[in-house]
Amino acid sequence: MEELKPCPFCGEENPSISMACWSIAQEDDKLQWVDYWYVVCGKCGTKSFQYGTEGLAEEAWNRRANNGN
Ligand SMILES: [Zn+2]
Repeated sequence: MEELKPCPFCGEENPSISMACWSIAQEDDKLQWVDYWYVVCGKCGTKSFQYGTEGLAEEAWNRRANNGN
């Protein structure tokens, strides 16, 4: 697990990673639940996009933190 960089918008140093799930309707009308991860800043509420793994969400957040200057 990578360390998350501070929020690129407000500088909050401890953004957190969260997992949630959403449902996708299948052809037979059954729901399939899919987990996803995202990073959220507790201070300004900025969220990353949603990714299929924790590592991808962290990587994307850190990439944006680097470009935030
Ligand atoms: Zn923030």
